[in-house]
Amino acid sequence: MVNSIVIVGGGTAGWMSAAYLTAAFGPRLSVTLVESDRVSTIGVGEATFSTIRHFFDYLGLTEEQWMPHCSASYKLAIRFENWSKPGHHFYHPFEQLRVAGGFTLADWWLLLGDRTDSFDRHCFITPALCETKRSPRHFDGSLFTDDLDEHTGRSTLAEQRAQFPYAYHFDADLLAKFLARYGTERGVRHVVDDVIGVGQDERGWITHVDTCNHGPLTADLFIDCTGFRGLLINQTLGERFQSFNDVLPNNRAVSLRVPRDIQRLGMAPYTTATAMGAGWIWTIPLFGREGTGYVYSDSFCTPDEAEHTLRKFAAPDQDDLSVNHITMRIGRNTRAWVHNCVAVGLSNAFVEPLESTGIFFIQYAIEELVKHFPDARWDPALVQRYNDRLAHVVDGVKEFLILHYRAAGRDDTLYWKEAKIREIPASLAERLELATRLLLDESTIYPAYHGFEAYSWNTMILGLGSGPKRARPALELMNPELACARFAVIRRYSDKLAASLPSCFEYLTTLH
Ligand code: FAD
Repeated sequence: MVNSIVIVGGGTAGWMSAAYLTAAFGPRLSVTLVESDRVSTIGVGEATFSTIRHFFDYLGLTEEQWMPHCSASYKLAIRFENWSKPGHHFYHPFEQLRVAGGFTLADWWLLLGDRTDSFDRHCFITPALCETKRSPRHFDGSLFTDDLDEHTGRSTLAEQRAQFPYAYHFDADLLAKFLARYGTERGVRHVVDDVIGVGQDERGWITHVDTCNHGPLTADLFIDCTGFRGLLINQTLGERFQSFNDVLPNNRAVSLRVPRDIQRLGMAPYTTATAMGAGWIWTIPLFGREGTGYVYSDSFCTPDEAEHTLRKFAAPDQDDLSVNHITMRIGRNTRAWVHNCVAVGLSNAFVEPLESTGIFFIQYAIEELVKHFPDARWDPALVQRYNDRLAHVVDGVKEFLILHYRAAGRDDTLYWKEAKIREIPASLAERLELATRLLLDESTIYPAYHGFEAYSWNTMILGLGSGPKRARPALELMNPELACARFAVIRRYSDKLAASLPSCFEYLTTLH
């Protein structure tokens, strides 16, 4: 049997892995986590994907139990500012597109809507809640979609892949601390020390990691959560890292933590991604402060210029705030699992934070590890399948992100001009060509599971100002009554909920 694990690294990836494995296997699996107090964590990663709810569910944690410890807030959508043209914005919500007569409302909008207007406000309720800074829950805890859609109950990612209508923002450092408590209370051995060497047997399999003060730590399975350095997977086992910089050129970020008077200013229930001259700036509202950062390509902007731009944008009067300059490794390992080592988190893959997928990758990696957990035979077929899935989830997101730059209307700087002519994967080029005639569906988006559904692809295509010039011809022969009724329901609920839901700040105050 495989019954002991050493996790190297105590960032979000390390502690999410430790907590999840403990929840899955309890005391039947021995888990040791070793982290350095000299090498800091990346310290960003504050916006999540809606599947994160299933992670907390699996750990048996309610929002009341974890959110107050992590300065957490709600995220209903990403607001894209200035991507299609200056002054324009649209939302990519965690809300499914509804259907009328077998076609999505986005299809119907192409027939019935006004192309000079933003499609998202007509097809979703979420934009109205974002504009009025509403909470996704009523004071009695019910969800804003409860009246409209069938109930979204307790489940895990495996059981329910459909999007939950919201995600969270949280302080990544506080979450790691919270999960550390969760894990250690349930038996995780926590070692604070530096790993200074890695022992391997004659086959190359890892036998132990050497630490400065705690000697060698042995285990059957090792999880590499050492961040971009990939101490076990790359430096020890030599696994090849495939860079995506040829298609996703952003390779640096500079971040700031900005204090914010949320009582006076309220809380936006969304992440904002604002397009800038050489990349984009994230704005993430936490309960008490804002996380913000400029993601850019150093071929188009120097770190000093990026810092200057970020300060001017996010904190023009607060020159004393310290910034964090980060070099990003964009891409993935050819294999996430090699011999008896699995890389989880930045040590395995990262595709810039545009759709907040870093933590989603961690969650998916660890859930799939539990599903493919090895026994003494280390069945290569299991390992292969794990590696295929992990490669697909990253490659699918990679394509989806390239689409953001390719389809964006913006072309006012060299950075944006190059995004229009840079070579892109042939499969994506084909999808985008198709999307000039028909909106995409489940069989024309990236074909394997990658977290995003057709509605997300279409939301980005239409929101960014691309997409078919006209509706599907079939719709012109159909009775539009049902679609008109659905649009009317969205209008009615948007108004009703914007007026009746508590503000995001008010609701969060009851949790914090
Ligand atoms: P790290 O945080 O780098 O942790 C590495 C750990 O390894 C540390 O504990 C360190 O002490 C330990 N370590 C290293 N070497 C040794 C050693 N020799 N011995 C012992 N311990 C060692 N994701 C999202 O989901 N949403 C976002 O909004 C988002 N924004 C991001 C913005 C930026 C600019 C970047 C770069 C990433 C972002 N991410 C985001 C990704 C997210 O930050 C990461 O996925 C997440 O924080 C996991 O990091 P990690 O634990 O893999 O690595």
